[in-house]
Amino acid sequence: MTAKIIDGRSLAAAMRKGFAERVAALKEHSVTPGLAVLLIGDDPASAVYVGRKVKACEAVGIKSFAQHLPESISNAELLGRIVELNANPEVHGILVQLPLPPQIDMAQVLETIAVEKDVDGFHLYNVGGLVTGNTVFSPCTPFGVVKLLEHENIPIEGQNVVIVGASNIVGKPMALMLMARDATVSICHAKTRDLAQFTILADILIVAAGVPNLIVPQMVKHGAVVIDVGINRLADGSIAGDVDFEGVSKKASAITPVPGGVGPMTVTMLLENTIKSAEHKAIFEGLELA
Ligand code: NAD
Repeated sequence: MTAKIIDGRSLAAAMRKGFAERVAALKEHSVTPGLAVLLIGDDPASAVYVGRKVKACEAVGIKSFAQHLPESISNAELLGRIVELNANPEVHGILVQLPLPPQIDMAQVLETIAVEKDVDGFHLYNVGGLVTGNTVFSPCTPFGVVKLLEHENIPIEGQNVVIVGASNIVGKPMALMLMARDATVSICHAKTRDLAQFTILADILIVAAGVPNLIVPQMVKHGAVVIDVGINRLADGSIAGDVDFEGVSKKASAITPVPGGVGPMTVTMLLENTIKSAEHKAIFEGLELA
């Protein structure tokens, strides 16, 4: 078997075309969706991620409000910035690029972002809403994975899903989102004993551990769908996921490449959440969108 390659780039591009139309419809009512992106300090990877988000916003007509703040910023000052953005009617989404310097209380930062502007989906309300089914914004990476599965018409209901990685931003919300779609979900992590005994049962295997080559063919069931969320920079400077792509693609029925799989979808879902936020506000204020 040779797996179908799930092309995240082409789905992201198609979705972004649709976004440009939704933004144009909002602009006809003098509403320009706005995303504030706060970058703290000089971490080069964070700067790259923020740059990509800003560029992606511009490409679909979203106005970005990027703020580059010093590494030494105090917790109080950062919270003050967020409070200002919460009150700014031009800003529909607020994103604070993680990780944060040690003097910053991340939980407090995430809780200070207004729920209706929490387009990253990390506010406790949005996280809790994943359990009860009334989240306002889903976190972008797992949301992107769900979109990829839906686009590929991969059934979720009743499927055995195994997620490798249990972080708050990927693994745990991913599990909740797929449970909400009636999958049978197992979550594995660094302390899981004999990872392979779980992964081999997966109809859909989602890997977000940050360990290159963690998943090799003998850990994968014939015909499984394999979603590789991992992004690892190798010693030679190249980017690889967590899955042995060459080997596993001979066994899986479908697989995401790295790069070009989940990555482009993450930023795409951030745009989706920002536009949705602007649309909600416009409708709430009585505008009739086409
Ligand atoms: P994290 O470090 O917060 O969490 C990693 C998780 O993997 C933990 O639960 C840990 O217990 C588990 N883990 C680590 N080693 C393991 C092992 N040997 N076996 C089983 N489980 C193991 O990481 P994160 O922020 O969730 O990111 C995970 C990966 O996904 C990273 O490579 C990151 O770069 C990538 N990522 C990609 C996107 C994207 O847009 N494609 C978005 C977010 C994160």
